[in-house]
Amino acid sequence: MAIAPVTPHVTRANDFSVFEELESDVRIYCRKFPVVFHRAKGAEMYAEDGRTFIDFFCGAGTLNYGHNNEYIKRRVTDYLTGDGLMHGLDMHTVAKRDFLSTFAEIVLGPRDLDVKVQFCGPTGTDAVEAALKLARKVTGRTGFFAFTGAYHGMSRGSLGVTGGLRARRAGGVTGQDVTFVPFEEGPLGSFDSISLIERLLDDPSSGVARPAAVIVEPMQMEGGMYPASPQWLRRLREVTERYGVLLILDEIQAGCGRTGTFFCFEQAGITPDIVTVSKSIGGYGLPLSLTLLRRDLDVWEPGEHTGTFRGNQLAFVAATAACELWQQTQFNTDRAVAAHRLQRFREEVVRACPGVDVRGLGMALGIDLGRDGGSGRAERVQRYAFDHGVVVELCGRHDEVVKVLPPLNIDIPRLDRGLRVLRDALDAA
Ligand code: PMP
Repeated sequence: MAIAPVTPHVTRANDFSVFEELESDVRIYCRKFPVVFHRAKGAEMYAEDGRTFIDFFCGAGTLNYGHNNEYIKRRVTDYLTGDGLMHGLDMHTVAKRDFLSTFAEIVLGPRDLDVKVQFCGPTGTDAVEAALKLARKVTGRTGFFAFTGAYHGMSRGSLGVTGGLRARRAGGVTGQDVTFVPFEEGPLGSFDSISLIERLLDDPSSGVARPAAVIVEPMQMEGGMYPASPQWLRRLREVTERYGVLLILDEIQAGCGRTGTFFCFEQAGITPDIVTVSKSIGGYGLPLSLTLLRRDLDVWEPGEHTGTFRGNQLAFVAATAACELWQQTQFNTDRAVAAHRLQRFREEVVRACPGVDVRGLGMALGIDLGRDGGSGRAERVQRYAFDHGVVVELCGRHDEVVKVLPPLNIDIPRLDRGLRVLRDALDAA
């Protein structure tokens, strides 16, 4: 049989033809950042046409430690060159043991989190699905309370507690069993959500049955960069406890240091019943997804919630190294300095651009152009930034908020350079 000739790789820079020909129309980010990337280091991404971009998007919060972090890379490459086990279902492995003990020692222990760790499928939505399913099993109830503006993922259960109607329609979810309550803050103003929840739960004729759980993001990212206040989260914890309703904190994007502490909910001093973690927990951009459950909630039967890809071994190795960074003075100094600089930028924008709302915590900032130009202006900011070498994404109901998520440990000259471009972009747009 004749062997087919090897098709030569396309060599022309920024040739998109194969993507247009073969990849589904569902792709989205490539339309906003129309180059072909091939390398990345720290806070920079490199396109094959020779252009360099400062990354203020970080894989939607997946690359909190920057691209190809040296400390993590060494451990990953050692593991690969040593023929470390690459797939093990949920068998006991050294990589998993190292991760669990390091995570317990560095992250859980100091925060008094007495939880068990469930390894879910590889993505964030898998952790949310497991959390919802567990809450139903534990309580014997079927419903959930979720918040307007919430984003929890694209599989069916997660979509059920996600606010965006377009995504819900595409997923064919009907909204049965989920009661949406306005989040504390949103484009329509503030709302006393907790009193509404109390009222619904107190009134036997409210039409709303007591739910299995309330699911909440401590800072809504996709919804438009709205941090919940510590007082609000504390009230939510108090009310859910009083009514025997579980509290699920979705830390998938706000967690792993993005908002200044490892978990965002720490800032409120609360202890949730279930926590979902993904994105940057994999340290190096590798897929890993955890559901942390209060020890007494571990009512699973063996194999009752299973899957082939639960606990990527290479991600365990990277995640272990990433946890260790939290004990390193240099990393902690770098991220404190960068967060301080970003919050100063926030004040600069507030002063220079009246009518523009700027919200954020730690290394997460949202520049809300909803009142001053809307999504058209935000899109122009994004395009200007990209044309001047900065990758930044939009969020909010109508893509009216510029979402700034640099690596936590970005160096100040590069951070400044990116922020200068953003300032120019705001002026130009
Ligand atoms: N929850 C939150 C808060 C998220 O931001 C996301 C992803 N943007 C998800 C869940 C879903 O994660 P994934 O895309 O990995 O399924």
